[in-house]
Amino acid sequence: MKHYHNISIAPFSYIKVGGIVKDLYIIENEEEIPTLYKRDFRIVGNGSKILFAFTNDESTYIIDRNSYIKEYANFIEIGGGTPLSTIGQYFENKGYLGFSRIRFIPGRLGGALVQNASCFNECISDLLVSLRYFNGEKIIELRQNECQFSYRDSIFKGIKGMILSSKFKKVPCNPLLLKKDSEFIRKQKEKSQPLHVLSLGSTFQNVQNYSVSKILDELNFKGFGLFPHAHISLVHSNFIEIKKSCFYPEISLLINHLNIVLYKEIGIFFPIEIVIFRRKDGRIQDFSPQKK
Ligand SMILES: Cc1cc2nc3c(=O)[nH]c(=O)nc-3n(C[C@H](O)[C@H](O)[C@H](O)COP(=O)(O)OP(=O)(O)OC[C@H]3O[C@@H](n4cnc5c(N)ncnc54)[C@H](O)[C@@H]3O)c2cc1C
Repeated sequence: MKHYHNISIAPFSYIKVGGIVKDLYIIENEEEIPTLYKRDFRIVGNGSKILFAFTNDESTYIIDRNSYIKEYANFIEIGGGTPLSTIGQYFENKGYLGFSRIRFIPGRLGGALVQNASCFNECISDLLVSLRYFNGEKIIELRQNECQFSYRDSIFKGIKGMILSSKFKKVPCNPLLLKKDSEFIRKQKEKSQPLHVLSLGSTFQNVQNYSVSKILDELNFKGFGLFPHAHISLVHSNFIEIKKSCFYPEISLLINHLNIVLYKEIGIFFPIEIVIFRRKDGRIQDFSPQKK
């Protein structure tokens, strides 16, 4: 386990945005978790869904790098910090269903389970058998049907704890078919999402058959921005593209603005899909960019 004091979290953010945190632990092995019992912590996987909206924060942050894949007779056990791309490659080589599409999501297993991530009708929880979860006091095992999975949601959202590992069913499939499927999905995803720029994926959740990207397209919001380093993608209007050296208020103010635009147009506050970590004590901070 590596431990740092008063360090910037930006290098662990997918969009390279974030302030100074008081304590940061990088965990590669779950045996290291008990030393953190009783601490109030926040977990970061690949940080591809998190906006760190502070210039400094007193919280303890855990970066989950507990990455492994172990195969048993009836299931495959995977560490919470394992990248989805690594799992996808393993499942393809071995000829198992379940990750040929999700593998293009730039996250790690724990974060994907919290978000119940899915891609072109393949969902992370579909072939999940059970997972092991550290609830701040002890490790418990939860079966798939105990995790309350639904569209971009799970029991783990908003509660303190850490997904340590998960077991998945082994469903055999021809590796060539998996490869073909993967290639097709990769091309589809490249056409429909801005994959080669910094972003946090979809900004808002679609609700009641309303598509946020379609609404913003119709309102001519493609390319719209309030500040120089964050604007709506030209490829997908529910994605915000972020430029290097972005300061977090440029993103949070754009999200707030869009929230109001969508409310005025449809009469619904669309849930924000991006996970926003604000300063723990809730204090309002100086927004001046010099304080970055
Ligand atoms: C270009 C792009 C494309 C995307 N495409 C898709 C897509 O097609 N489908 C989709 O569903 N999403 C998509 N996303 C969103 C995002 O990549 C997924 O939600 C991903 O699964 C998040 O994983 P992560 O490891 O980055 O999680 P993080 O962003 O690090 O964390 C997300 C949440 O999970 C929690 N968390 C992380 N690890 C653990 C753990 N071990 N235990 C407990 N809690 C944990 C965090 O505290 C946070 O609340 C996309 C994002 C980008 C940037």
